[in-house]
Amino acid sequence: MFSRRISVLFGLAIASLVLIPGVQLLAAADANSIPTPEKFLGFRVGEDKKLARWEKIVEYMRMIAKSSDRVLLRELGKTTNNNPFILLEISSAETLKDLDRFKRLERKLYFQGGAPSDSERLEIFRSGKAVVLVTCNVHSTEIGSSQMVLELVHRLATEDSPAVKRVLDNVIFLLVPSLNPDGQIIVTDWYNKNLGTEYEASPLPWLYHPYIGHDNNRDMYMFTQKESQLTARLLWHDWFPSVWLDEHQMGSQGARIFVMPATDPINQNVHPLIYRWNGILGQAQAAALESAGKEGIIYNSTYTNFWQGAMAWSGWWHNQVGLLTEVASARIASPIEQRKAQPGRATAPASEEDRQSQQRREMENPNEPLPPPRDVTPRTEYPRPWLGGKWTLRDIVDYELIATMALLETAADHREQLLRQIYEVNRATVEAGAKGDPSAIIIPVDRQHDLREAHHLVERLQMAGVEVSRADREFEADDKKYAAGTFVIPMNQVFARYAKDLLEKQTYPEVRRSSNSPPEPPYDVTAWSLGMQMGVETIVAKKPLAAGTKLSKLTEAPKLAGTIEGTSNAFGFDYRGADSALAINRLLKAGARITVAPSSTVGRPSTSVLFYGAPQSSVESIARENGIQVFAHRRVDPAIGFNQSNWPLKLPMPSTARSLVAPRIGLYQSWTSNMDEGWTRWVLEQYEFPYTILHNADIRERGPSSGATAGISSKLREKYDVIILPDQQPRDILNGFDFKTVREEYRGGIGDEGVEALRQFVREGGTLIALGGSCDLAIDKFPIPVRNLKRGLTRDQHFAPGTIVRIQVDNTHPLGLGMPSDTYGFYNNSPFFALVEGFASQKASVVARYPNSDVVASGWLKGEELMAGRAAVVSIEMNPGRIVLFGLRPQHRAQTHATFPLLFNALLWACGTAENGR
Ligand SMILES: [Zn+2]
Repeated sequence: MFSRRISVLFGLAIASLVLIPGVQLLAAADANSIPTPEKFLGFRVGEDKKLARWEKIVEYMRMIAKSSDRVLLRELGKTTNNNPFILLEISSAETLKDLDRFKRLERKLYFQGGAPSDSERLEIFRSGKAVVLVTCNVHSTEIGSSQMVLELVHRLATEDSPAVKRVLDNVIFLLVPSLNPDGQIIVTDWYNKNLGTEYEASPLPWLYHPYIGHDNNRDMYMFTQKESQLTARLLWHDWFPSVWLDEHQMGSQGARIFVMPATDPINQNVHPLIYRWNGILGQAQAAALESAGKEGIIYNSTYTNFWQGAMAWSGWWHNQVGLLTEVASARIASPIEQRKAQPGRATAPASEEDRQSQQRREMENPNEPLPPPRDVTPRTEYPRPWLGGKWTLRDIVDYELIATMALLETAADHREQLLRQIYEVNRATVEAGAKGDPSAIIIPVDRQHDLREAHHLVERLQMAGVEVSRADREFEADDKKYAAGTFVIPMNQVFARYAKDLLEKQTYPEVRRSSNSPPEPPYDVTAWSLGMQMGVETIVAKKPLAAGTKLSKLTEAPKLAGTIEGTSNAFGFDYRGADSALAINRLLKAGARITVAPSSTVGRPSTSVLFYGAPQSSVESIARENGIQVFAHRRVDPAIGFNQSNWPLKLPMPSTARSLVAPRIGLYQSWTSNMDEGWTRWVLEQYEFPYTILHNADIRERGPSSGATAGISSKLREKYDVIILPDQQPRDILNGFDFKTVREEYRGGIGDEGVEALRQFVREGGTLIALGGSCDLAIDKFPIPVRNLKRGLTRDQHFAPGTIVRIQVDNTHPLGLGMPSDTYGFYNNSPFFALVEGFASQKASVVARYPNSDVVASGWLKGEELMAGRAAVVSIEMNPGRIVLFGLRPQHRAQTHATFPLLFNALLWACGTAENGR
């Protein structure tokens, strides 16, 4: 299902190579006609309570690109909401005139089309430029950088100072003014709407990206969103920048700016030189800020050097120097006052409770000064602590301007050294892979549970610039045989470190301040092993592949062709993996009548999808597009459908056979901008499950139904078969934000009334699906025979910030159909369960559980033994309704393809009816 998209991706990447830069290369004199940002906007960049909205930023940049021979502008594509996603290419006029040549050198530095020859290498060192990418504003409330760039680009386009000249002569500066233009617009509009009202501090009631909000900085190996894909193309198909700075903002109370290097633990798949350059470039930024008299500059803090998935971090495994700056935030464009601290008198760091109560205080009284900073101890990484005072958007802009210019100047000064050392990292990476251990990562094609997922995995790797090959014929690796067609990722390639890190098991090195103190919590998840998450077997080959192994490099995304055998009006296919649900949804839409029939031969459960009533042409296209093998069965009389006597399979028709109709899905969306809701929405759309968003008022709406459906009295049940509560704390669902500074229409939650409406929904046969944290709402508010064992455990006893775990699935249960009995799931601090005595009318069953030992498959988790053998997914028949509790995270960040079917089954089964009557 991703294939079409990546073909576009490659197509455009190639097109960009032949793009002639500089449609309009005007004389430098025209630069004098460029108005300052202040003149253009009518206010100074960063002025209190003033924001430039995205279209103004684009307009200004287009104008500069038109007037200056130092600036090119390219629209890389459209965002999710169809806004322009732009890139500026900035350098000297001479360089821009010959941009393709410099791009060729940079690509050669990254071994594109093979290692550079001796003469090419010398040419890179002598004439190549330091290619530096700066990306801004991925988190849209961190809005300063989207404003700062206006002054930065104006300066580079118009100034003739020695510093600017040095930068232009030595650097090709790639600038993405916003990685999330849609969010920039959402935040600017929300801020302006509330400006000058009592709601000025009102939090956004929705996400600042159409789907995934803050998690847009967690998408850089799965590339689910358009913006991530455009960025990946720029990085690993187009320009291959050696340096990449992603500019962020952090909280308002502590240090003023974080610069590199970040903090332990490091990741051993990253070349040490990358961490060294983090230090060189980050500390050059710090020095420039210090020399400008700026306070509160910190490094070696908060952000850990281990984790994949974030923007600039993802460059490290690609041998790119990924850098982060985090500047303290104002209240969007409104200034903040902070009470002064006594120098040297530090207070203990804020606990989670402190932070939450401070957040509440700020929401209740946004105009009250913030408490003084806690961390005021001068030390090596923080020699001049911030002591409090006033902080404005202009301060953010100033810090970012200094830090960005310092990066460009330092890259210019170190041009040749940077090129030589990046070459060394790339050379060492390729040569290590040629020696072996590992020599390749193998993705077999003849032993996958769902081969389509192997194709999806390869496609993700290709998006990240990884070269994937296929074996032309059978071959041997580490004395094992593999079939022709096997996918092979040779490690003698420039992005081998990335492929290795992404596909192997993660071991998170615990960091403790002292031997007695508890381990420091990781910054984000500790595991991403993408094969496990997608349910694809991958094998690391140690020894070099056997002589005579013949591989062909894939030039585009592999596509698994579906087939259809025979003609009839009735067909069937094997039900396995997430893509089966997509095929089912398309068939339902095409008018097919579908029966799903689980069966078991000699202890090997399998499931067949049988259908009739869809036109042969749509069956063919659905088979082709979904990579399924469809078999024709003998014709079925549409008036009768499948039954015992016309059952086409060898085994008798099972009593568990169910006919499927499209479930009417309601997805709860609170006004507290919940990312898991956005991810759920995205996953439902990708697999073509139609859904309706339910807000608090929609859930609360009770009253009698229109009476159209016999026996149903609640409005919710009349409209929906299944309601999903995304991962969210029950108090957020029940109460939402309840402050007078929050706009009235977005205040509160579903409340007791909403809970009663959900109870009635289930009583009348509805299915309630609770994901992660929301399970507790079901456990507390419905009398169900399930206990959440995670509840009450301290962080010392049990802690899992994001871990891949082993699960055992009951694949004879309707919710486990189409899954292998042993697979992997994603777990992060959500509930795990035990069944308890319940009512005779309820039947609780465990759909998936953690094994009795070895729960952790990849990453880090504290208190593994407490989860061993416990339930991960539970289904409770409420007769007639059903409640499904997902403790593990079945659709986490849209990465966990292995467990998507658990969620999809819960949806499809919400209104399945027995073929043979109950
Ligand atoms: Zn951020």
